Amino acid sequence: MKILKWPHPALTTPAERIEAVDDAVRATAEEMLFAMAEARGVGLAGPQVGYGKRLICVNPTPGTPEGERVFVNPEIVSREGEATASEGCLSLPGINGKVTRAEKVVVNALDLEGKSVTVHADALLARVLQHEIDHLDGVLITQRFSAVDKAANARSLRALENAARTAGARR
Ligand SMILES: [Zn+2]
Repeated sequence: MKILKWPHPALTTPAERIEAVDDAVRATAEEMLFAMAEARGVGLAGPQVGYGKRLICVNPTPGTPEGERVFVNPEIVSREGEATASEGCLSLPGINGKVTRAEKVVVNALDLEGKSVTVHADALLARVLQHEIDHLDGVLITQRFSAVDKAANARSLRALENAARTAGARR
């Protein structure tokens, strides 16, 4: 399973709801957990691996599998406070900027057995959940950067676009 990079169109396409949590969904989740761990990421969303469905996995403590969780059709049902911190993204290598998000969120989702779960998250987990749910809506961190951070990352973003063009031309 390959993690797609900007400007792959899958990254800006909103993902569809998962109708049934079946073996195919569980198998995809397993692969995503593996890809996330391999990249030492704190989160990974379906669109980032070309899976256009509302499935995310998170692990605020990479390297320790105990922190791994998978959420199907996650939805933010409440937000509280505001926090700004620097963020990167596995689909945007070399890009980094400050993103302001809610400090705490409550997320409703299904687990891999199809049961409803509610997560009360703060700190890094709250940030990761908001970042991954953004991916499900086709939203990337670059859209949430300030004008200053957008300008600071413009060159790296263009480099990614040029790299994709070159790879495409070679095929
Ligand atoms: Zn990301």
